[in-house]
Amino acid sequence: MGAHVSVPMYRRTLAARVGLEGRRCDRCSAVSFPPRGACGQCRGRSLTPVRLSGVGTLQAWTYITAAGAPPEFAAQVRRDGGYHVGLVALQEGPRVAGQLVDVSDPEIGQPVRAVVRRLYEEEGVVRYGFKFAPHMGEQLPAEGV
Ligand SMILES: [Zn+2]
Repeated sequence: MGAHVSVPMYRRTLAARVGLEGRRCDRCSAVSFPPRGACGQCRGRSLTPVRLSGVGTLQAWTYITAAGAPPEFAAQVRRDGGYHVGLVALQEGPRVAGQLVDVSDPEIGQPVRAVVRRLYEEEGVVRYGFKFAPHMGEQLPAEGV
């Protein structure tokens, strides 16, 4: 988070940002997210796109206030005073960082799921991406759909 993303780059990476599209290694089955050119485990280059469930467990979290917020989130910090960011271990394996929503008192180990939310607006384009909300135990979506 925090790096400037141009509109063309944003459009190119939208599938990964909103659809939680990762890559499964054809050799060792390790799943990478965000997608990379080579497997993070075995460096294999034969990778198959896979839609991640977005379901995982919270491994760590922090609370970001004005001093630590990247500029594109400044308006949110002014409005809300700050926001939680969590590190989530997805059930497919990758660990990803994202804002936590609908959470006032995060607990390490609590189940969470990715939800698509408005992130911020830049260059006249509203950017969407995933955040993590508490997972209330509804049926887990099938992996790799
Ligand atoms: Zn591999």
